[in-house]
Amino acid sequence: MTRNIRTGKDAEIRSYYRAMYRAWGPQHWWPAESPFEVIVGTYLTQNSSWTNVERAIRNLRDAGVLSVDGMRNLKRSRLERLIRPSGYFRQKAQRLKTFISFLDLRYEGSLEKMFAQPTHTLRGQLLDLNGIGPETADSILLYAGNHPVFVVDAYTRRVLNRHDILREKTDYEEIRTLFERALRPVTEQQEHVREGDGLRLESGFPGIVHPPSAMSTAHRTAQVQVYNEMHGLLVGVGKFHCGKSKVKCDGCPLQRFLPKAKDER
Ligand code: SF4
Repeated sequence: MTRNIRTGKDAEIRSYYRAMYRAWGPQHWWPAESPFEVIVGTYLTQNSSWTNVERAIRNLRDAGVLSVDGMRNLKRSRLERLIRPSGYFRQKAQRLKTFISFLDLRYEGSLEKMFAQPTHTLRGQLLDLNGIGPETADSILLYAGNHPVFVVDAYTRRVLNRHDILREKTDYEEIRTLFERALRPVTEQQEHVREGDGLRLESGFPGIVHPPSAMSTAHRTAQVQVYNEMHGLLVGVGKFHCGKSKVKCDGCPLQRFLPKAKDER
């Protein structure tokens, strides 16, 4: 049987985390003022750039409808207009309305009640909703609900694939399990939690760092914080170094882990 993930990679994943964190520090991802804003963002960011998501979110905020009540009372046609900058706006409006109906039906419109569910139960319910795949479900669980699940995205796959750790078509759950297992010891030894605790960065983040937001500075467990940072840091590597067609290894905090570089040591 062919393995999709090379064995014995847990320690390497931990080294990636430490190298990226030392280089760039906290990423303050997900930038949002409330759990509901995170949820809306997870829908809007599907097939869209974050800049366009921000424009749509701003429209919703300016219209005073960036809340469960606001969106419930909003006509779908108006919702479509407000989120138009994020693309696929008809489909996304319908999916957001579906989420509100689910919340109303199962949890009396309460995100608190929803997030009080065990992770496994809620994950299954979210995955049953139209428009929610594993990445969206896990983003909602981790960033809006502080549930300890790792979010696997295209950037993560690309980096691990280029570093010869996994095959391109590796199953989402396999990668999630790898990260959750590998990062557990980091959580236990975690000495940093927030910025300003004496961390001296080795290099500057190459892009725009998100300013601290209500959600990125909210109280959370060390485990959730590590999953949060790891995902944000991999997004940074994917965006600014490890592009789909443009790869800039010079200056990338993961350069020393490249299989070729390792062979030469
Ligand atoms: S840019 Fe180069 S060093 Fe950085 S993750 Fe991609 S392949 Fe690795």
